[in-house]
Amino acid sequence: MARRKKIYEGKAKILYEGPEPGTYVQYFKDDATAYNAEKRATIDGKGVLNNRLSEFFMTGLAGIGVPTHFIKRLNMREQLIRAVEIIPLEVIVRNFAAGSMAKRLGMDEGTPLPRPIIEFSYKDDKLGDPLVPEEYIIAFGWASQQDLDDIVALALRVNDFLSGVMHGVGIQLVDFKIEVGRVWEGDFMRLIVADEISPDSCRLWDKETGRKLDKDVFRRDLGDLADAYTEVAKRLGVMPSNVTHQTKPTLIN
Ligand code: UDP
Repeated sequence: MARRKKIYEGKAKILYEGPEPGTYVQYFKDDATAYNAEKRATIDGKGVLNNRLSEFFMTGLAGIGVPTHFIKRLNMREQLIRAVEIIPLEVIVRNFAAGSMAKRLGMDEGTPLPRPIIEFSYKDDKLGDPLVPEEYIIAFGWASQQDLDDIVALALRVNDFLSGVMHGVGIQLVDFKIEVGRVWEGDFMRLIVADEISPDSCRLWDKETGRKLDKDVFRRDLGDLADAYTEVAKRLGVMPSNVTHQTKPTLIN
């Protein structure tokens, strides 16, 4: 096969030029990073699991009418997606306090929030993705007020869908991050869910035991990350058949 043109390589994924204009191939790596890539490891099987899980969530979202970039899964590690113009924001939705919010406000992790809270970080690794108010987003032209209204509506639909799906398999959706992209259809611009939805970008707690089933397992050294993701995949009935993984992550840094 001819070598493909690499469009972009991120911490956990690579984007290649797709087979048709307006498409990309998204490749899921086994690399895990945390704390703005200060902590890194390769976790065998993670890419395969996230490819499957993101397919599962994106397909489910499309099924309830939420537009996403996902077109189809190509193989164990790759999926065909629509090329979008990424809005440079991490859109974070929280149902329970955890992580940076719990720290910032001195709250216990797991405290229920009075309503889902949406916050935005500006996507810039050098700056460590700083939290930004809507005022900055509009003033600097990253998105318009109308875009933000649409992004909030989209994020809340994703939240209700993911919360329900997770609840059905005994998992509490504490918080998550999505990215949103612009696509043009003739003269019309639409905002669609892009990037990935996987345990890398969600906080997922077992409802009975509180066991963490997300990237905090890696961030906080709580055990085997691939085991945790496999548990999520199993409960959702999304088990890739031949994933094997080592019990210990290989440290590459
Ligand atoms: N998140 C993410 N990518 C980021 C920052 C956050 O996927 O660059 C996800 C994270 O996994 C969690 C949610 O967004 O599910 C909220 O993260 P938080 O702001 O609490 O940051 P953290 O504590 O992870 O630094």
